[in-house]
Amino acid sequence: MKVSAIICAAGRGERAGFGKNKLLAPLCGAPALYHTLKAFDADCIDEVIVTYSPHDIGEIRALCAPFGYKCVQGGATRSLSVFNALKECTGDIVLIHDGARPYVTEETIKGCIAGVEKNGSGICAVPVTDTIAVARGARICEVPDRSTLFAVQTPQGFMLDDIRAAYERAKDDGGAYTDDSAVFRRYIGEPALCEGSRENIKLTYKSDFAAIYPPLNAARGQAAGIGADVHVFGREQNYVTLCGVRVPNDCGLIAHSDGDAPVHALMDALLSAAGLDDIGHLFPDTDDAYSNADSMELLNKVVSLLAGRGLKPLNASITIRAERPRIYPHISAMKERVARALGIDETRLGISAGTCEKLGFVGEGLGIEAAATVLLEKTDG
Ligand code: MG
Repeated sequence: MKVSAIICAAGRGERAGFGKNKLLAPLCGAPALYHTLKAFDADCIDEVIVTYSPHDIGEIRALCAPFGYKCVQGGATRSLSVFNALKECTGDIVLIHDGARPYVTEETIKGCIAGVEKNGSGICAVPVTDTIAVARGARICEVPDRSTLFAVQTPQGFMLDDIRAAYERAKDDGGAYTDDSAVFRRYIGEPALCEGSRENIKLTYKSDFAAIYPPLNAARGQAAGIGADVHVFGREQNYVTLCGVRVPNDCGLIAHSDGDAPVHALMDALLSAAGLDDIGHLFPDTDDAYSNADSMELLNKVVSLLAGRGLKPLNASITIRAERPRIYPHISAMKERVARALGIDETRLGISAGTCEKLGFVGEGLGIEAAATVLLEKTDG
C-alpha cells in the first residue's frame, strides 16, 4: 500500500520562548524540524507533505527542498492545517506526525504503518509511568487507574479515506481536537494503539532542546580536515600536473611523485579528518614505488583506505596559488577528475586558483602552493 506522511509544522510554538517557531530553533546542529524531516526520508514512506505558516514559508520550503517534500500552507488551527494537507495526499495510508517530535525512529514509523495495515489505525503511545491525578482547583479529586492510561504521541496512522472523511465532518463542528485520533474517534471509531517510544518526546519548552537524547543524524559522525602542500618549479618538462590535469608550462614541478600539490593537499586533508598519518608517512618519498607516482592513483588509495574505515567524503574545497601557468581554463577538467576520485557530485567540490600578487615564493614565481579542506561522513552510523 502507498503511504503518505503529513508533518505538522504550521504552528507558532511560542511556549518554547524562542520568539519564533520552535521548529526552526537549533537542535544538534540543524533546525529541529530538519531532524523530523530526515526521519521520514525512509523507504517505507512514499510521499511527505509538510504544513507551514506564512511566517515561516521561506525557511520551511528551504528545509524541505533537498528531500523533495511538498509544502502546504496550514490553517488557523492544527486541525485546519491537517485538513489542508490531507487534500494533497495520494496514499492509501497516511501517517500524521508533529514536526516537534524529531526523535521518532524508522522502527516506530514502520510499526505505525503495520498497525494501520492490521487494525485500520495505529496511534503511537506509551504507557504512563507517573501517577496521573485529576485536580479541581489545587486539590486532587480523582486518580484514574494507571494501567489504563497511555501518553499519546505521533505518528498516528489511518486509512486516508477514513481520516479525510472524519476531518471533512469535523471542520465545521466547532470541536477543539488536540490530535488526529480524537477526530477519528469522534467520526469513525475507536482508534487502535501501537507502540511509541519514550525517546519520541515532543519539543515543547526551551529546556527540551538542551536535554540529552539519542544522537541525531545531523550531528553524528562528521569530521573536517585540512591539508596543504608546496612544490618548486624546476623539472625539465613542458607541463605541471594539477588535480590530475596536465597544464602546459615552461617547466614542471620538482617532486618524488608527479608533484600534484593540490591533490597532495587534498589527501592530507582526508587523512587528517580521519585522524590518520599524513601522506609523507603513507607514501614515503624514500620508497621507489612512488617514484613519479600518479597522484590521482594515490588519491584513489586514500579514498579506499577511508572507505574501509566507514568514512566517505561529503565535500571538498581546494585552493591553488601560482603566478604561472594560468589555471582557470583547466578547472572544470580538474573538478571532473577529483570529484570522480572522491565519489562526490561536482557540486560538492570547489577548486579556486589565484596568484600571490608577486609576494613571497609563489609571487616570485618559484613554485606552486595548494591547500584543501574536506568534510567526511561516517557511513556505518
Ligand atoms: Mg607534495
